[in-house]
Amino acid sequence: MEVTGSAARVRDACDAARSGGATVGFVPTMGALHAGHRALLDRARSECGFVAMSIFVNPLQFGEARDLAAYPRTFEADHGVAERAGCDLLFAPDGADMFPNGRPEVTVDPGPIGGRLEGASRPDHFRGVLSVVAQLFHLVGPCRAYFGEKDAQQLALIRRMVHDLDVPAEAIGCPTVRDPDGLAVSSRNVRLSNPERAAALSLSRALAAAANAVGQGERSADVLRAEMARRIGAEPLARLDYVAVVDERTWEEVTEIGGPARALVAARVGDVRLIDNVALVWDGDQAAR
Ligand code: AMP
Repeated sequence: MEVTGSAARVRDACDAARSGGATVGFVPTMGALHAGHRALLDRARSECGFVAMSIFVNPLQFGEARDLAAYPRTFEADHGVAERAGCDLLFAPDGADMFPNGRPEVTVDPGPIGGRLEGASRPDHFRGVLSVVAQLFHLVGPCRAYFGEKDAQQLALIRRMVHDLDVPAEAIGCPTVRDPDGLAVSSRNVRLSNPERAAALSLSRALAAAANAVGQGERSADVLRAEMARRIGAEPLARLDYVAVVDERTWEEVTEIGGPARALVAARVGDVRLIDNVALVWDGDQAAR
């Protein structure tokens, strides 16, 4: 595995791989690699002749300097994970490698979906994400790029950017990897104390209850939202940010489940902000019978 901080080297290596006939698989991350990232790497490895991963803690997507400073950085361990997963190229730039002329003045507007949910709670978060992902796409070139459904709104916005701006990349969504008890794996989980980790389970449990209720025929999004809020609200160590039930295509809140929908939650547990979501599969045929 080659490790580089050079943008020019990434461009050359990916161009060379494509010239040799390989499909380039790309996995952008912020490091502190865990089983979720490994799943993306494994999928890329199984589908592509050349696999590139980036590790860059993107300062543009953090509102609070404190949150950026607290973000875990574990480069030595990450290097081993990438190497064992069969990654070909590890791009690990620092701020000066990515922004040699300072932070970009021209950025990607995430549009209306980018103003909802995470975008409402974290102003400019998605502008920062999309601007850096666009920059990485320009360095890597035509590729299959792998993203987690764990960050479902981010995945939707990247798909939208790829579509609206004709980016020569295919954005591929991969299922959320969870610990055996259901907690979505996240780089931030290492910052949870044992009691906080127990409290964090209220998010995945609230979502599982919502998905289960829909499976049993519940169609009222208000009922689902209220039940999720009640479950997370009952946990003294969790401070709820939002619960939502949105149309998977428009990302607008729905009143009734009548098509592809997603339940999403965000909460602060101790000092750590956590998000999670689940697809709501409503079997319309069954309901009609
Ligand atoms: P991050 O390093 O947190 O920016 O995440 C990099 C990529 O890994 C994003 O596409 C995330 O959606 C994905 N990811 C993070 N956590 C998980 C998880 N638990 N399961 C699947 N993908 C994940």
